[in-house]
Amino acid sequence: MPGVRVQWRGALLCGDEHPPDDVAARLEPHLRRPPGRALFLEDHGAVDPVAVTRALVRAAQSHGARVMAGTAVSALTVRGGRVVGVHCAAGDVEADIVVVAAGVDAAALCRPLGFDLPVAPSPALLMRFAAPPGLVRTIFVSPELEVREAADGELLVAAAWTGADLRQVGEETLRRIIATFGCREVRLLGVRVGQRPMPADGLPLIGPVPEAEGAYVAVMHSGVTLAPKAGRLIASELVGGVEAGELTGLRLTRHRT
Ligand SMILES: Cc1cc2nc3c(=O)[nH]c(=O)nc-3n(C[C@H](O)[C@H](O)[C@H](O)COP(=O)(O)OP(=O)(O)OC[C@H]3O[C@@H](n4cnc5c(N)ncnc54)[C@H](O)[C@@H]3O)c2cc1C
Repeated sequence: MPGVRVQWRGALLCGDEHPPDDVAARLEPHLRRPPGRALFLEDHGAVDPVAVTRALVRAAQSHGARVMAGTAVSALTVRGGRVVGVHCAAGDVEADIVVVAAGVDAAALCRPLGFDLPVAPSPALLMRFAAPPGLVRTIFVSPELEVREAADGELLVAAAWTGADLRQVGEETLRRIIATFGCREVRLLGVRVGQRPMPADGLPLIGPVPEAEGAYVAVMHSGVTLAPKAGRLIASELVGGVEAGELTGLRLTRHRT
């Protein structure tokens, strides 16, 4: 996929502080106090989710997709018991299949079809910091901090959000980065709350909407990690007409007894 940059730098999971672990100190040379115990997961990689989203949109356009950014779908169009498109401010759009991949808002779009999608918002923080390139080299995970370099000179921190003041959380995280990596040239760029779509049992919800022919749902947490595989399987079902065995346990009907 042009424009998608996966950083295969491995994940360093850190435990106690003393005595210092040589491997951790070599992998993260800027650590002020290398952990006493650390586990390095060499084959772990990471992406900048915003950059990947942009690359995916560009790639879809290059294959002929028409992008209508900023146009909310108000409802799915049902004709003769079948979903045949969507209503939006720009007018009606017809479709052979409507894929509802609207994250936490997917439930509201499915409800008028008579299906209650078991998904709830799980708020989390995404914080960005400017930092000298190479300050953090792995996906660094300690009990206090999970941080990685998203692009040269930019760090990303994700954390659960419990309603605390965003500025305060950002500044507290900044202090932790400075204390951990001993670098005063780190600056807070921004803190945003994102709503992770969390299915009731934690597993992806993928498949046709029961009793609503023409509508198909793709909603999950860890959607960035799962996207390449889930995307291929969904395309093979919708375009190739091949039912994917891997998706059997993830269907929308699994909650029915
Ligand atoms: C802080 C944070 C950390 C995360 N960490 C990870 C991680 O470590 N690994 C991982 O894999 N994933 C992670 N995620 C990703 C996340 O949990 C989801 O799995 C992922 O965003 C799902 O992607 P999606 O495109 O399916 O849905 P979303 O990203 O929720 O996108 C849905 C889109 O649909 C649009 N939409 C909604 N309603 C309508 C409507 N009516 N009409 C038109 N458009 C509509 C929305 O505007 C949005 O653009 C994280 C998310 C957050 C916020």
